Amino acid sequence: MTDATTDPRSVLITGGNRGIGRSIAEEFLRRGDKVAVTSRSGEGGPEGALTVAADVTDGTSLDAAIKTVEEAHGPVEVLVANAGITDDQLLLRMGDDSFEKVLDTNLTGSFRTVKRVIKSMMRKKKGRIVLISSVVGLYGSPGQVNYAASKSGLIGIARALTRELGSRGITANVVAPGYIDTEMTQSLGEDLQESYRKAIPAGRFADPAEVAKVVAFLASDDAAYISGAVIPVDGGLGMGH
Ligand code: NDP
Repeated sequence: MTDATTDPRSVLITGGNRGIGRSIAEEFLRRGDKVAVTSRSGEGGPEGALTVAADVTDGTSLDAAIKTVEEAHGPVEVLVANAGITDDQLLLRMGDDSFEKVLDTNLTGSFRTVKRVIKSMMRKKKGRIVLISSVVGLYGSPGQVNYAASKSGLIGIARALTRELGSRGITANVVAPGYIDTEMTQSLGEDLQESYRKAIPAGRFADPAEVAKVVAFLASDDAAYISGAVIPVDGGLGMGH
């Protein structure tokens, strides 16, 4: 199904070889867009997508990846900054290196990617930026001081960008998923998964496709007047954000 309101667009999703990013890539492909995804290995990604190697902590590798994407699909019109990691430790045990690593990937990595696609969006006076945050960015979570800081920082990026570029047809929004069934959450112990399920009003983790559909909407023409927003996809866990 093609989105009737737009021609196929050049869409870039960081970290699109698995989990939520892969599901987002599949949703844009289903809508008929030209989709590129990154992974550190340059492998994986859904059929029909261009997979390029990029490490979001390395500006040079991002430069090369975006050049390849632009040559194949044209300037990036929709960016989904999704690549992210966790490295959980209670604060007393969290080393500076852990904090810096998580911030460098989740927050600075998103900044680096946005910075490299924004010029062509400004020239075209059209663009969509969706930053994948987390319920944890606003709700907090023990053992995730690094992760929570990185994810709430994305809100600052989206809101500052909205004020800078809102008049140029560019929107920047944040999607804040709750607990989604991916490798990231499967690595949690069964007891912890059960306690999270009890805390979620919906009583379950979400399928990655439930996040993907919201991202695709924010990237559509129908969402032209939504910018600087934080959209929860969390089964009610973070109500009152
Ligand atoms: P996964 O661990 O399944 O996938 C993470 C993705 O990020 C992979 O594609 C990985 O690629 C990529 N990645 C990690 N580090 C880098 C890096 N330095 N450079 C480039 N790519 C990198 O995670 P999820 O799909 O669960 O999570 C996706 C996003 O959603 C993350 O930002 C996460 O914080 C967020 N999120 C997830 C939730 C969940 O419940 N699962 C809840 C809320 C938010 P590679 O193959 O190279 O490792």
